[in-house]
Amino acid sequence: GYTERVNVATLIADSLVLARHTFDKRGIEVLRRDAATLDVEINRSELQQVLINLIVNAVQAMGEGGQLTLSSEDWVEGGECVGVCLRVADTGAGIREADLQHIFDPFFTTKKGHGTGLGLSISQTLVQRYGGRITVDSRPGRGTTFCIWLRSTPEYD
Ligand code: ADP
Ligand code: MG
Repeated sequence: GYTERVNVATLIADSLVLARHTFDKRGIEVLRRDAATLDVEINRSELQQVLINLIVNAVQAMGEGGQLTLSSEDWVEGGECVGVCLRVADTGAGIREADLQHIFDPFFTTKKGHGTGLGLSISQTLVQRYGGRITVDSRPGRGTTFCIWLRSTPEYD
């Protein structure tokens, strides 16, 4: 889609509004930290879709209670700020070591009966189209952190 200048802190805030009811119902505490100094040139609704995919996964991994932390910070490369890192961290079930290499595969899901296994696959495709990437760090039983790395000015794949 067309691109525009997107302030990621605003985008995070807008995405959280949509999920507020679910957080309240499940007793999930939401923490925010906005430190990114640059905006990104991107299609706003595509980035919002990626963020919502990650938030829904985090909520499903936590069930009742838990903490969801959303932060934005500068992506620094070679001493230069090249873009932003958008971090979604949960205190949920975590991802088994053996599953980590498959989670971005289309149709891979561990949610029997209700998962499509498409959220991460689609999200990764969208982000890579702008020359960005998604990384994951997970501790089974402790939680999971996903990072969306986006260049301020996209480098199209
Ligand atoms: P779906 O949510 O439909 O299963 P996704 O592509 O969004 O498909 O995610 C694929 C799989 O990755 C999930 O089934 C789950 O096993 C794992 N996963 C993704 N995000 C998380 C998370 N925050 N915590 C634990 N597991 C996760
Ligand atoms: Mg999902």
